[in-house]
Amino acid sequence: MATFKAPKGTYDLIPPVSVKYLAVREAISAPLRNSGYGYIETPGFEDVGLFARGVGESTDIVSKEMYAFETKGGDQLALRPEGTASVLRAALEASLHKQGNLPVKLWYSGSYYRYERPQKGRYRHFSQVGAEAIGAEDPALDAELIILADQAYRSLGLRAFRILLNSLGDKECRPVYREALQGFLRGLDLDEETVRRAEINPLRVLDDKRPDVQKQLVGAPVLRDYLCDACKAYHEEVRALITAAGVAFEDDEKLVRGLDYYTRTTFEFVHDGLGSQSAVGGGGRYDGLSEMIGGPALPSVGWALGVDRTVLALEAEGIELDIPAPTAVFAVALGEEARRVLFGKVTELRKAGVAADFSFGGKGLKGAMKDANRSGARFAVVAGERDLAEGLVQLKDMESGEQSPVALTELVDAVRARLA
Ligand code: AMP
Repeated sequence: MATFKAPKGTYDLIPPVSVKYLAVREAISAPLRNSGYGYIETPGFEDVGLFARGVGESTDIVSKEMYAFETKGGDQLALRPEGTASVLRAALEASLHKQGNLPVKLWYSGSYYRYERPQKGRYRHFSQVGAEAIGAEDPALDAELIILADQAYRSLGLRAFRILLNSLGDKECRPVYREALQGFLRGLDLDEETVRRAEINPLRVLDDKRPDVQKQLVGAPVLRDYLCDACKAYHEEVRALITAAGVAFEDDEKLVRGLDYYTRTTFEFVHDGLGSQSAVGGGGRYDGLSEMIGGPALPSVGWALGVDRTVLALEAEGIELDIPAPTAVFAVALGEEARRVLFGKVTELRKAGVAADFSFGGKGLKGAMKDANRSGARFAVVAGERDLAEGLVQLKDMESGEQSPVALTELVDAVRARLA
């Protein structure tokens, strides 16, 4: 047994399951790549201050779950707990927003780290594919992102998900609501930490999952009643555009999400087959974030979809992705000379774009044919000294079991013709 194990709250992606993760990343990013979003990659760690200021000091993500550390050089860094702050930081640093091409539309895929209590669907290392549209206040942009996420999930065959939608207001109306909510919360019987949270970010108290808290929240002022006319009109336009696209959603006035930077449109994708960790993705508008991290005013909107939970959602719905076998041809060589010749043919096949593999390790016919089976290859190419002496190999169709001799010089063409 190995001495070391994957750290608590993490797991390894290994074949054959790992291919699902690749397929999910591909499926989520495809609609983005098709809609003007450019690929961006940022470091796995950033200045801790970026997240403290961007995501918010009072959030669980920053106050409890961040992997923050000091480097040998004395820098205060943190493993990234989410993608938005980093992407915006990178866009500002590269002055992408100054090139007169707003909105800047970017997509990313990567690993994120949160020191959470691990359970199914909640890990300390997880992966997301995300999208950010930076520098435009346009309800069509909010709608575009929601529609693209919906399209991504549908392309994977997922059906048992719902889209929850809310507006958190803006810097005009949210403070008024915030005060009204704070007044309400002060009259409740809450524990010390929640009282503190109510003073720093009262909206997040609405997100408290504990039943005794939820019971007391009945009758709390509702943000919808406080939205200013501009926010109301904006939200109605987002709703109308999504509806016109045929994307179903539910209005959820309690949806506030665990990050401080959201304004106006917020949304979450939840999957009904996942139990308590039901959020498969989420996002929203963050019009104030750029200024919070020292940039100019850049109203923006984005989302991140969790890859791990999307894979769990596929399993919950019993969806098998249509993933082609990784190997099309498997070569089985019997004897030294055959090994040399077939190894060369495998290289030739690969160069010709045919996924090919080879029986390594000097196995006998039986063991090598087992490898050929396990590889999922459509064809096995078998050759011994006698075949080669005649300039032939045996091409075996692994589905029908039929086998026929093919001239060595014709092998690549013959295989390509049969695979086409
Ligand atoms: P958030 O940034 O918290 O809105 O997360 C966006 C998405 O990332 C969630 O909907 C999940 O799918 C995924 N996610 C967030 N935290 C975790 C975690 N600890 N483990 C697995 N997936 C997560």
